Amino acid sequence: MTGRHFLQIPGPTNVPVRVLQAIANPTIDHRGPDFAELTRVVLSGMKKLCDCSGDVYLYPASGTGAWEAALVNTTSPGDTVLMYETGHFAKLWSELAQSLGLEARVIPGSWRSGANPDSISDVLKQDIHHRIRAVCVVHNETSTGCVSQIDEVRAAIDAAGHPALLLVDTISSLGSVPYSHDRFGADVTIGCSQKGLMLPPGLAFNAVGAKAKTAVKTARMARSYWSWTSIEAANRSGAFPYTPSTNLLFGLREALAIFDEEGLPAILARHARHAAATRAAVEAWGLETVCNNAAHHSSSLTAVYFPEGHSADAFRAAVLKTFNMSLGNGLSRLADRVFRIGHLGDFNDLMLAGTLSGVEMGLALCQAPHRAGGVQAALGHLQKSLN
Ligand SMILES: *Cc1c(COP(=O)(O)O)cnc(C)c1O
Repeated sequence: MTGRHFLQIPGPTNVPVRVLQAIANPTIDHRGPDFAELTRVVLSGMKKLCDCSGDVYLYPASGTGAWEAALVNTTSPGDTVLMYETGHFAKLWSELAQSLGLEARVIPGSWRSGANPDSISDVLKQDIHHRIRAVCVVHNETSTGCVSQIDEVRAAIDAAGHPALLLVDTISSLGSVPYSHDRFGADVTIGCSQKGLMLPPGLAFNAVGAKAKTAVKTARMARSYWSWTSIEAANRSGAFPYTPSTNLLFGLREALAIFDEEGLPAILARHARHAAATRAAVEAWGLETVCNNAAHHSSSLTAVYFPEGHSADAFRAAVLKTFNMSLGNGLSRLADRVFRIGHLGDFNDLMLAGTLSGVEMGLALCQAPHRAGGVQAALGHLQKSLN
């Protein structure tokens, strides 16, 4: 195929050439002085991006590893963790907790909005013996395109007078949807490289506040590779307790420099604007977003119901074959019913225009019932919101 592939799944996302070039630098000694400086720069950059005054621990891992790291450093065998089922990823996290031997208590959700803080506070109020060690919430549920209001979840925990820690998955929100570890009152922030951070897969992290750093001292879950304590000790001299992913850290340093150049407020505004333009297209097509709560729409992706009786997977396959564009699939209970448009990371107006053009042409190609004019509606939104 000629031209460029459109990678419009909600992660992995398009990696800027600058980041790819940084990754292509020769690998260096991970115990040498240059590496210690690299460690210092990326850790302070990550603390700034998370707005976390505590520590950040980086792992050579996918996001799933960072989920596990957050749990094994803060819990003891037999503890209960309270999860809110916002969608597929929240469900996977609860299954991971269960397989670690934790009691995962899951509040069911509609998969069409973010977490409901009231139901979290109701469960916590009933937990008079404080068996619930942590509340686990996915900030941006990538299977549905719904955002949970983390500050409201924090307020719900406090209103219940409960000591549970707040563990937040920001895997597909950090750098795309407004987030602040300190201001939102998170105890552990969980993330990884391949979504809004504009890197390939393979780096994950925990940002850890003071209360979680205290909890690790009494948490008895078996841990070794994921242990915050051993990473912290090694990080003090700029090293890691094992061989870190040196070249991905070169990439992270470059990605953080890009964040600084554009500036986080501008980046977040760009994501919100592209998300609003995408919703304008969906509405004009006469289709429906999975998110049905106007206050919870995601800035990083839009999940769209495919017309009833037609296959979303056949549509995605046709779009890939004909237009060389990858769209996200529907996950678990949304399989074949939904497609997802990623509009996060290294992205601009014309990339969005191309993406939505591919969707609209694909809808026509598959003879899926819809109205034309979605692209025009999105362009109209982009035009009127130019600054
Ligand atoms: C992608 C994603 C994950 C899983 O991350 P992996 O890197 O695939 O392990 C978890 N949570 C959310 C919200 C995600 O978007």
